[in-house]
Amino acid sequence: MTFIPLEGGCLCGAVRFRMTAAPIVTHACHCRTCQKVSGSAFRINAMIETDRLEVLAGEPQLFEGADGARDRRCGQCGLVVWSFLPKFGEKMAFVGVGVLDEGERLRPQAHYFIRSRHPWVSLPDGVPAFETLGDAGVEGARERVMAVLGAG
Ligand SMILES: [Zn+2]
Ligand SMILES: [Zn+2]
Repeated sequence: MTFIPLEGGCLCGAVRFRMTAAPIVTHACHCRTCQKVSGSAFRINAMIETDRLEVLAGEPQLFEGADGARDRRCGQCGLVVWSFLPKFGEKMAFVGVGVLDEGERLRPQAHYFIRSRHPWVSLPDGVPAFETLGDAGVEGARERVMAVLGAG
């Protein structure tokens, strides 16, 4: 299956980027941090190797937040275009699908941290859901994650 690249950007349009490969996995995360960051009940994250994100315009700025959390933001409007997790470093990016022009093309393949799910959110049948983290069972995901972690 050929992946048609997705493009996205910040609110003001200064930063534009292209996702050149399909994400390793797209997941809905219901953890308290993702709720806070998104200002919503959950955040939908597309996990992808950072070198598969091609910057088309602007220079996303590195921002360091609480507890060593880092992300890249537009230097003008401040919107987060992608985030990093300490466990993976800056070689793995988490793109909130709403930052993409056609984020609806990336459906969550797993739901994580449903222990803090808002009770009105119903989970779809046939999509794996986990109390905390779990293996979404996406083909090739483990190999791609190991390739990033192994590369340091
Ligand atoms: Zn901007
Ligand atoms: Zn989360």
